[in-house]
Amino acid sequence: MDQEPYDILSMGPLELSALFTELQEPRFRGQQLFEWIWRHQAQSYKELTVWPKILQQKMTDLAPFSRVQAIHTQVATDSTTKLLLRLDDGNQVETVLLPHPYGYSVCVSSQVGCNMGCHFCASGILGRKRNLTAGELLDQVGYAQKILASRGDHVSRVDLMGIGEPLDNYQAMVKFIRLLHEPRGLGLSYRHMTVSTSGLVPAIYRLADEGIPVTLAVSLHAPTDALRLALMPVNKAYPLDKLMPACRYYSETTGRRVTFEYLMLDGINDSPVIADQLVQLLRGFPCHVNLIPWNPVDEHPFQPSPMNRVRRFLQIVQEHGISCTIRKELGQEIDAACGQLRRREEEILR
Ligand code: SF4
Repeated sequence: MDQEPYDILSMGPLELSALFTELQEPRFRGQQLFEWIWRHQAQSYKELTVWPKILQQKMTDLAPFSRVQAIHTQVATDSTTKLLLRLDDGNQVETVLLPHPYGYSVCVSSQVGCNMGCHFCASGILGRKRNLTAGELLDQVGYAQKILASRGDHVSRVDLMGIGEPLDNYQAMVKFIRLLHEPRGLGLSYRHMTVSTSGLVPAIYRLADEGIPVTLAVSLHAPTDALRLALMPVNKAYPLDKLMPACRYYSETTGRRVTFEYLMLDGINDSPVIADQLVQLLRGFPCHVNLIPWNPVDEHPFQPSPMNRVRRFLQIVQEHGISCTIRKELGQEIDAACGQLRRREEEILR
């Protein structure tokens, strides 16, 4: 039987060390390889100049790996950078670099497409093609790191907020988080990572117990089941009386404040009455509410809330002692809504 190809990019230092033992090579080569791929961004074994040429060739033959390639790059005037990256099998994902006062965050995609079908989202339109591997997740950060290094900067935060539902790709996601934290690689603190979810309740409990205290960002978008169900089909399986206890459990177990994402949709979920309902739902919960100005998507009928209504909503929530901010819009002149770049490219290719 043919041996499964080694997925080198999804392996941590210990797995790579075990692989080198299996290949009758010194164990320390595994750690060396991990460092060269993730710290020095090596694109092939030939760049491991600390290795004898014979070992470079042996590994090229036995365990080839290829890294993501950018097929489209858009840079906005504020330096927000949107990348369309090609994976080894030709599928494409979007990755976005966002400038903040503290440094750059990288928004990573977790799946090719998405099955959650949120009615306001560009990414759900094409459906999910497949999950990404831990290595493909990590390589999006690796690519971003390479770009930032050329600007004399580095990745400060990673947010699993791009295309896909990260908790629907659970094992690869958790492995990615651990690999991203690995000191011999990119070495990012768990506190500088955010996992976003549409609200997959069982996976929220599971993540709380993993011992990796990342920030959980829940796409809430509505304070009642009727309204949320009209926006997000996931609310049928996991209504608010199941979702909110899971969020509380996450917060209590990890000691991290949960973030609730709230898209501001004109005339849908942005009235003062709805702001009061949100206050009732979140009262006494150690959380943060992030109000997100809506980026119109051609296929969806929603319109952005006028700014005066967003500010009124903010005021009501804040008056009740709930931490709440309006998300700053970055890279406005490029295809800003998640999934737009990939869909545009696929339309061109059709
Ligand atoms: S908002 Fe997120 S979970 Fe919902 S369809 Fe889009 S990518 Fe999927």
